[in-house]
Amino acid sequence: MTLTLTPAEQELRAFVARTAARVLCPLAEAWGERDEMNWDLVRALGKEGVFPLLVPSRYGGSLEGPFRAMTLCLGREELARCCPPAEELFAIQGLGSYPILLAGSEAQKARYLPPIARGEQVPAFALTEPEAGSDAAGLTTAATREGDGWRLRGEKRFISNAPVADVYVVFARTEPERGTRGISAFLVEKGTPGLSGRPMHTLAPHVIGELAFDCRLPASSLLGPLNEGWRIAMGTLDVFRASVGAQAVGLAQAAFDLSVAHARSRVQFGEPIARFQAIQMKLADMATEIRAARLLVYSAARLKDSGAERVTLESSMAKLYATEMAHRVVDQAVQIHGGTGVLRGHPIERLYREARAGRIYEGTSEIQRLIIARHLLRD
Ligand SMILES: Cc1cc2nc3c(=O)[nH]c(=O)nc-3n(C[C@H](O)[C@H](O)[C@H](O)COP(=O)(O)OP(=O)(O)OC[C@H]3O[C@@H](n4cnc5c(N)ncnc54)[C@H](O)[C@@H]3O)c2cc1C
Repeated sequence: MTLTLTPAEQELRAFVARTAARVLCPLAEAWGERDEMNWDLVRALGKEGVFPLLVPSRYGGSLEGPFRAMTLCLGREELARCCPPAEELFAIQGLGSYPILLAGSEAQKARYLPPIARGEQVPAFALTEPEAGSDAAGLTTAATREGDGWRLRGEKRFISNAPVADVYVVFARTEPERGTRGISAFLVEKGTPGLSGRPMHTLAPHVIGELAFDCRLPASSLLGPLNEGWRIAMGTLDVFRASVGAQAVGLAQAAFDLSVAHARSRVQFGEPIARFQAIQMKLADMATEIRAARLLVYSAARLKDSGAERVTLESSMAKLYATEMAHRVVDQAVQIHGGTGVLRGHPIERLYREARAGRIYEGTSEIQRLIIARHLLRD
């Protein structure tokens, strides 16, 4: 397996960086740290061809073949390095649309994917509940048959893009006695009577909220086969966990680059602090850890793109190592910046806050370790 980038992948990365510098960063800067949906940025990500990287061309995107985990990871890494607010939108556009791509009918794909690719609509992935976080299989949101459709009742929490998303992929129990084999996925559109939501507010700006459902859904809202929801959710997280690692690599790279520049320019005791070995040791460790994390992310993505159905072990390792690495690297970057690093609004202070939640969402670091250990110990 080669971990170097092909010319097409290098061009993809350069395209994302160019688009970020030219269009996305100015829009994100003008918006500031508001945790509301920046619709101008959403539209630009669609119009400039960044969201289309996630969607096959027959549904309005620019993918000529199947979905590529490497494209997702490179897009997330580069956006996280250049423009974290755009990265978040890109990530959730993928997380919410991938289950539709994975399991949707032709009619569902044709209805939902083109406006998502164009940046006219935003989706959301709704698994977590107030009483079911790490233990997502303990979810209690339930869908029961009502006429020729469904009655959906329950609550979700910490849902990115809620409460303003246009379509929610909602995981609900359809046969409670069958455990994870009795969970199904549903598509719930904004404006459905009985759907309500409100925003939550996190350390770094993020559009996220809680949802409550008491909705009547048509039969056509079922996504994938009945009782296959858990497989859809886990198949999605398999790909997206590695990409959380890619985001962490991008954030850490940004912190590293700023640290090198600061170490070269900041003079203390009559010389740039980069001359002090204590600073050099930090920079050496940071660069080494970033490279190690990047290789773990790329190897998980390459394995997925080579046709492996599941890459659970590799994806969990990539997410665990990269998000923990980003925490250490950004912390050292703050240290290298001294007091400047904790000034509110300074890029390093923002990276410190932006990197934190990666160790929690899509499975905490503790849960990734449990998954990895389960694989290592099984017969
Ligand atoms: C910014 C952000 C965005 C998110 N976006 C989404 C989204 O779009 N869709 C969605 O469905 N969810 C989303 N989430 C939810 C996220 O996936 C959960 O927060 C996460 O899975 C942890 O669940 P919890 O917060 O309930 O913590 P808990 O499960 O209550 O965990 C609390 C602590 O206990 C530890 N713990 C729990 N069980 C064990 C165990 N068996 N062994 C050892 N330690 C354990 C955890 O590791 C953690 O340290 C998001 C969360 C955040 C913060």
